[in-house]
Amino acid sequence: LKIIGDKNNKISVKIGNITIGKDKLIIAGPCAVENEEMLVKIAEKVKSWSANALRGGAYKPRTSPYSFQGLGIDGLKMLRNVGDMFNLPVVTEVLDVRDVEIVERYADVFQIGSRNMQNFSLLKEVGKTKKPVLLKRGFSATYEEWLYAAEYIAIEGNANIIMCERGIRTFETYTRNTLDITAIPVIHELSNLPIIADVSHGTGKRSLIIPMAKAAIAAGADGIMVEVHPEPNKALSDGEQSLDFSQFEELMREIKSY
Ligand code: PEP
Ligand code: MN
Repeated sequence: LKIIGDKNNKISVKIGNITIGKDKLIIAGPCAVENEEMLVKIAEKVKSWSANALRGGAYKPRTSPYSFQGLGIDGLKMLRNVGDMFNLPVVTEVLDVRDVEIVERYADVFQIGSRNMQNFSLLKEVGKTKKPVLLKRGFSATYEEWLYAAEYIAIEGNANIIMCERGIRTFETYTRNTLDITAIPVIHELSNLPIIADVSHGTGKRSLIIPMAKAAIAAGADGIMVEVHPEPNKALSDGEQSLDFSQFEELMREIKSY
């Protein structure tokens, strides 16, 4: 690792007005952009409770091809509008090299999903841009594989990378994934990159979000990502791991003192 391995030369990634490392990055929003009204409601809520970035998938990597696949370009436009309305930078997944240009036009941060962590052509393509990249850990990737994936991006000239631990596959079936808290100090030890924890995908269970967020922050995470929906039971994806508005307030109150 030549670029991201130098832990004495911390990379300071800026998103909107915040500098990661100094300020905690709190990315909140729906799993998928479903329509503009819901996004407005969510943005208003999370902004008032000090989230500093809005998430929402427009291109969704669903296990089943019959599940909701996202709104595509319309979703990107909604995200941009609502982000501007509330002065929140927006984070969204780019699934395919062919969409890098359009996502670059509408989003402030590229998200590389777990399933694409070793999509080397996609990594190189976002590496050629200047936008920050949220690099999710592949759910079966070792730290070394994950760091090399970051190096693929950095080598193209873009070292604005935020690592995101999002849970790994283990033998446990009660949870969807096992959030690997160890990854947080390890990435700080082995690299100069910030790392956040996705506390929704991390376990797949709403009831575990607050304790996992506390654990991540206590372990030194530079922030968290969390899914929020006005009516999680009606969400088109990942309702079981989304917080409703009062639960989001509770999360923010609980982690404030950390
Ligand atoms: C997401 O954040 O919406 C997502 C699909 O996450 P992951 O790639 O970690 O599964
Ligand atoms: Mn999701």
